[in-house]
Amino acid sequence: MRPVEDHFADQFMRNLIARNPGETEFHEAVHRVVGSLLPVLARHSKYLDHRILERMVEPERVILFRVPWMDDRGEIQINKGFRVEFNSALGPYKGGLRFHSTVNLGVLKAVGFEQVFSNSLTTLPMGGGMGGSDFEPKGRSDNEVMRFCQSFMTELSRHIGSNIDVPSGGIGVGGREIGYLFGQYKRLRNTFDGVLTGKSLKWGGSLVRPEATGYGAVYFAEEMLKTRGDSLEGKRVAISGAGNVAQHAAEKCLALGAKVVTFSDSSGFVTVKEGATREMWEKIMDLKNVRRGRVSELADAFPGVTYHEGAGVWRVPCDVALPCATRWELDGDDAKALLENGCTCISEGANMPSTPDAVEFFVAKKLLFGPSKAANAGGVAISGLEMSQNSMRYSWTRNEVDERLHEIMIRIHDACAAAATRYGQPGNYVSGADIAGFVRVADSMIDQGLV
Ligand code: NDP
Repeated sequence: MRPVEDHFADQFMRNLIARNPGETEFHEAVHRVVGSLLPVLARHSKYLDHRILERMVEPERVILFRVPWMDDRGEIQINKGFRVEFNSALGPYKGGLRFHSTVNLGVLKAVGFEQVFSNSLTTLPMGGGMGGSDFEPKGRSDNEVMRFCQSFMTELSRHIGSNIDVPSGGIGVGGREIGYLFGQYKRLRNTFDGVLTGKSLKWGGSLVRPEATGYGAVYFAEEMLKTRGDSLEGKRVAISGAGNVAQHAAEKCLALGAKVVTFSDSSGFVTVKEGATREMWEKIMDLKNVRRGRVSELADAFPGVTYHEGAGVWRVPCDVALPCATRWELDGDDAKALLENGCTCISEGANMPSTPDAVEFFVAKKLLFGPSKAANAGGVAISGLEMSQNSMRYSWTRNEVDERLHEIMIRIHDACAAAATRYGQPGNYVSGADIAGFVRVADSMIDQGLV
């Protein structure tokens, strides 16, 4: 074992910041991982000798391009297009596309870097990448979105392919956008292949994609509870959000006999005294997916449901918390309140919903805490399964896909738990996820030589 010098992490971060000025989100994403990896670097000098970490933080390729398009008034609009092809040691680059006004290179590099680890944890043959544009689809007509997507794909199509880089949807890129992007790719390349995931079921999508992230976070929670001889049955589960991830996390909780005691949206939250029923769940689905309503309407429709304006969902007594709404929605004070009120298990359905001090608190108090990198990898796992089904030109049934998802989430859990134990931090899924994700990529990079 070779000691890693005390100042290694500081020096590494100073160099990273100097080489990537202004990319604060990226600096933060790398900083979170470097601390977890120090014991691995100390035990295996090959990773230092091969300068694996230095190579991993440098994307293999970054593509930046102009996206000109014409709006409905006939005026020319110009947006920025990006694709960060981060790491292909394990397979074709794989990761989302984000269309949002806040998109810039630093944000995409941060998400792409995380994606390399998440994808590695799934054990599927997927490298990591991320892309998008500062285009904002909100408030744009379908025709404007189509013209933008066609212009974006006209350039992107030169760089992607089912064995090269397979983008998926993400914030601002749903079924409509994937359809327009796929149509343009097919037209330009004259080929119908699995170049994008998140496709419609009618033309190559996978069953269980909408459910995957929520189901996966619940499977991960169940595995963490098992390590303490426990299960979700009869547990009070607080869920934040009422969107795609929250809805399917709730559905799986109900199926496993847990009591869902909260839902929330950006206006407020509801508490459900006796736990949500299937009828309440159906109402949430209708409210959020069909009628664009508010969770407050659940309280109007059912006795035993109370609406509370504003934040505060984490102050509701529960045994298990599933943050499924948005980034940094659960802070250090919320984390303390959860512990005081009896919560022992937190599984992150959203991307990084817990602030860094909340994460630190959960780890210090030895709660069962599943970080998003591992706990919400169900979505990308199904994207991997969509790629497999596309290459076989065959579709698995709902049960077959769900069973595979369940197996993958168990494997991710076990890999994180084993890595944490191997490096002297049993039960620390944060370090475990970083280490397990890193080792698979790092060893593959060494196998493939200096490329
Ligand atoms: P949706 O847009 O479908 O739902 C988000 C929900 O969170 C909505 O109910 C929204 O309320 C609520 N919300 C937003 N901001 C807040 C806030 N500040 N406080 C309380 N509630 C809030 O998104 P998804 O369910 O698809 O995704 C949720 C998170 O999971 C996102 O961070 C996303 O990036 C991440 N994620 C999603 C994946 C997927 O497969 N869908 C995959 C991996 C990560 P309102 O209804 O008022 O807008």
